[in-house]
Amino acid sequence: MDIIHISAECYPAAKAGGLGDVVGSLPKYQTLLGHTASVIMPFYKVKFSLENEFAIIFASHARLGHVNYAFSILKLLNNNLGYDLFMIDIPGLFDRENIYSYHDDTERFITFQIAALNWLNHREGVPDIVHCHDSHTGFIPFMMSKVREYDKFAEVPTVFTIHNGQYQGQFGFDRLHYLPPFHSYFNGLVEWNHLINPLASAIKCAWRVTTVSPTYLEEIGYSMKGMEELLRKERSKSVGILNGIDVDVWNPATDSMLEKKYTLNTVNAGKTANKEAICQQFGLDPKKPLFTFIGRLVGEKGADILPEVIYNLSKFNPKEQNILVLGSGEPFIQNALLNLEHEFKGSYCSYIGYNEKLSHMIYAGADFILMPSRVEPCGLNQLYALRYGTVPIVRRTGGLRDTVIDIGDGGFGICHDQCSVFDMTHSIQRAKSFYHDKKSFNKIRKQIMQIDHSWNKAAQDYLELYYSLKN
Ligand code: ADP
Repeated sequence: MDIIHISAECYPAAKAGGLGDVVGSLPKYQTLLGHTASVIMPFYKVKFSLENEFAIIFASHARLGHVNYAFSILKLLNNNLGYDLFMIDIPGLFDRENIYSYHDDTERFITFQIAALNWLNHREGVPDIVHCHDSHTGFIPFMMSKVREYDKFAEVPTVFTIHNGQYQGQFGFDRLHYLPPFHSYFNGLVEWNHLINPLASAIKCAWRVTTVSPTYLEEIGYSMKGMEELLRKERSKSVGILNGIDVDVWNPATDSMLEKKYTLNTVNAGKTANKEAICQQFGLDPKKPLFTFIGRLVGEKGADILPEVIYNLSKFNPKEQNILVLGSGEPFIQNALLNLEHEFKGSYCSYIGYNEKLSHMIYAGADFILMPSRVEPCGLNQLYALRYGTVPIVRRTGGLRDTVIDIGDGGFGICHDQCSVFDMTHSIQRAKSFYHDKKSFNKIRKQIMQIDHSWNKAAQDYLELYYSLKN
């Protein structure tokens, strides 16, 4: 099958979170299963773009309302990703350092989608499947089926994956003219709650909708920023497929970002060496258990409760643990985390920013990873943590519910039900006594490293879904 993924992120070219990891690895596994998978994404002005070589294989224009943007399709040369990567260079819109959070994101990503379809329209033949990811590509299923210019694609099945339903990309009808001309009869297919909404449009128009975990699919039927009714209506064409992880990139035995690589047999020595390196870097004590958080500092991740959790633990039991936070996001959370540093120097530290290498070091060196998420469509951190022998402490929601079982239930993690300071603090207290039961703790470490969360199963599930649309 010829499978085209269209996405705003794809690791290692550009990543802001889990979307990048998934789009960067799923096509590789689909290729390994004998298919032709490729990725189309924007060409950002990031390290990857500057350090790699590309061939310009197509150049044209994409019309956004009254403005015509020149674009070119760049194909990655010397490619060892395991699939073809095509990047759309649109000067004026994407030659910037960040992926998102610009005032003209609406204009940027609609132009990107139009450019992608213009190029595919120009190519000979049609792909077997077009797989779109998140709201930045949400108009593609609509345009492929309802815009005259693209009627070549009317019978091409589309799959839309919701990685994060919190970001919907909605805007007013004053910008309806951004979309290529279509019959006004179809206005309802781009609308939700009186706004133009790419996420809603994709849910309405894609042949199949997937979420990145089964539990998240259930949850968004009663909680997704006003779109619950639509999700329930389209439930029959929706399925939850748990994300896999790229076990080549995330492998403590080969990970070049670690201070010391380790295997199942050398896990204790390996983790100790990585922990010591981190503790030295952040002025922490390697003899105490190391609790960490990695992620976006936003309410969705429950990061707003961290300052109080850290304060309570560091104030009343300063000698019992280290806490290290890596992340960036809401300024009020960043400031609250930074403000605590001075008072609790030696037992708590935070790194505000994005740092891929440090994240690998933390997965390897930490004893526990904290995930107090209010919403977690799948969550990759707990899967990476497991592979690196780090015990997850999670709030039971979305993919966390699907992947972490409490030690009290015969499992390997520590779970609670509320995103609250009380629940998280209680779980950390449980974790500390678990940590000191060295025999059980070491046994669990080895056990979790062996849990298979590779793409093997999920890649197969996606293929079965694609086949069901071709027959
Ligand atoms: P999200 O909702 O942010 O996509 P996921 O758990 O699906 O959450 O994926 C998060 C990914 O982003 C993981 O690979 C995690 O290691 C990475 N990540 C998040 N924040 C940072 C950061 N500040 N520095 C490095 N990596 C980060």
